[in-house]
Amino acid sequence: MAMQYVRAEDTTTAVDLVASNPSAAYLAGGTTEVDLILKDAVVTPEVLVDVTRLPLRGMREECDSLVVGALTTMEELAAHPAIIERAPLIREALLAGASTQLRNMATIGGNLLQRTRCRYFRDPMVGACNKRAPGSGCAAYVGEARMHAILGASEHCIALHASDLCVPLVSLDARVRLQGPRGARTVPLRDFYLLPGDTPDKETVLEHGELITHVVIPLLPAGARSGYLKVRDRASYEFALASAAAVVQLADERISQARVALGGVGTMPWRAPEAEAVLVGSRADEPTFRAAADAAVVDPLVVPGTAFKVELVKRTLVRLLQDLTEG
Ligand code: SF4
Repeated sequence: MAMQYVRAEDTTTAVDLVASNPSAAYLAGGTTEVDLILKDAVVTPEVLVDVTRLPLRGMREECDSLVVGALTTMEELAAHPAIIERAPLIREALLAGASTQLRNMATIGGNLLQRTRCRYFRDPMVGACNKRAPGSGCAAYVGEARMHAILGASEHCIALHASDLCVPLVSLDARVRLQGPRGARTVPLRDFYLLPGDTPDKETVLEHGELITHVVIPLLPAGARSGYLKVRDRASYEFALASAAAVVQLADERISQARVALGGVGTMPWRAPEAEAVLVGSRADEPTFRAAADAAVVDPLVVPGTAFKVELVKRTLVRLLQDLTEG
């Protein structure tokens, strides 16, 4: 099928082009989308609107936050002084998330919208997939699964949200600025993603034509300890089996503030307020960390291939909290 390529020179034109055509889609860094279109053929837009010329690349500090243009690359964000000094867990997640080559191409907006790596979604020849073909079934739920979710999952879809970056972003209460045919709006990243339920083909609150223009990252106060820990099958670049992002502040050996998010286990980047409630006011010791980890994993939906993740993600969080509070 022929596909039309259009390069937009301004945001309004880009939004109009996509919003006015149900078969149009945006194209930015293309590190995932080109695979989905040309290699896997599971995404088939009739019109691709290239947004790489829009003035959405760059960062500025604003009210104790870093406002990041959606076309900023992963590498550029990782190197920004405010990230290095006041949100180092973002840098850690970016460096753990992709090779230098990918980080120089992949955009922050695209990272938020990356599609699942579930093989049944990407290869129609190996099994049914409700996300690709609604109502067809979920081969992962009844078959081979490993790189799949245990939190937020449903019997209709257990696909993992594979972004590393989004895990610390959700722990920091990052926000997403959108521009659409009906104007601009801002959505907390925590509310940006949808649980699969029985409609796993709907992944975010984005309306057709809405474009991510910026991501607003609140910066941490002095004295906050933060980190991102990722567990994967091999030391080089690989998606997480489990990961954790945490921010803690200590006062007299007790935890005065805590933020926790989990990765590699959720259908979306997974904030864990239950763990935070255990941590705040408690002593910074292993029994507290274990209780927080137990609290973080609420009603997991496991299949035989993912059962190991329940304990793995708990240990990942305990280890991260130990690392952050030692010394
Ligand atoms: Fe498709 Fe989701 Fe099932 Fe994977 S887990 S086969 S993406 S429905």
